[in-house]
Amino acid sequence: MNPLGVQASIFVAGWSQPESEWAISAAARHGFEIIEIPLLEPAEIDVRDTRRQLERAGLRAVISLALDASSDISSGDPEPVARGEAKLDHALGIARDLGSTLLTGALHSALGKHTAAPSEAGRWNGIQVLARLAERAAKSRIAIGLEPVNRYQSNLVNTAAQALELIEHVDADNMMVHLDTHHMNIEEGDPASAIERCGERLGYVHVGESHRGYLGTGTVDFSAVFTALAKIGYGGPITFEAYSAESGVPARNAELSIWRAPWSDADDLARHARQFMAAECGAARRRVA
Ligand code: MN
Repeated sequence: MNPLGVQASIFVAGWSQPESEWAISAAARHGFEIIEIPLLEPAEIDVRDTRRQLERAGLRAVISLALDASSDISSGDPEPVARGEAKLDHALGIARDLGSTLLTGALHSALGKHTAAPSEAGRWNGIQVLARLAERAAKSRIAIGLEPVNRYQSNLVNTAAQALELIEHVDADNMMVHLDTHHMNIEEGDPASAIERCGERLGYVHVGESHRGYLGTGTVDFSAVFTALAKIGYGGPITFEAYSAESGVPARNAELSIWRAPWSDADDLARHARQFMAAECGAARRRVA
């Protein structure tokens, strides 16, 4: 069975000491093996304390990050590109110090609505930054994940095929595709073939519903997704991601267009997600065997 994970943002809005303790204990209590920590305010993270808590709880961390317009490595303007590279480097250091083997997310472009296609110069900037990041990450045996996100959140990488193409240009063994069922449900004609196309380049998976609420209550075909994962022999982490206007902070929710509340009880949601994911994993393995 794949290691199952949960995003910390389901439980907490930030990473102060009490928040980190609450999120890590909740993830462990619900039987997850991995907690994904989104680096919203990197300065807020007490790395040594978080590492101690992770060890105590027996959890592994995955570090995720999003770029914004001021740190867009695929911009044609050198200033945001340089800021983005510094932000990625800083995140890489935190990932390494927390013992994480993966730094991932929409690391390819600014997360948000774009009003123009990326320029050729911007694309090339992004490829060069990612190539340098991958080289530094390799020294700490850390993989870099690129998450295709829907068209309203990136102008550069919306599909698995686009992520694979970018990775081909970056040309590093530790660059992986990070698929998310929520985004795939919008952009991929056939999510199962997108998974198969990634094959060994698939390094991380987010399971999220079409409305970002309870798994199995939206339009994502999870049985097809888990079957495709089993078919390619994917043994990596599968992490639950969900959003609600009743959790998190309003400004961040607005950035992600979280206007509704498909759930309000994080504990109930996480318990349900863990059961759902384990059941789908098991059923898919039996189908493929
Ligand atoms: Mn995601």
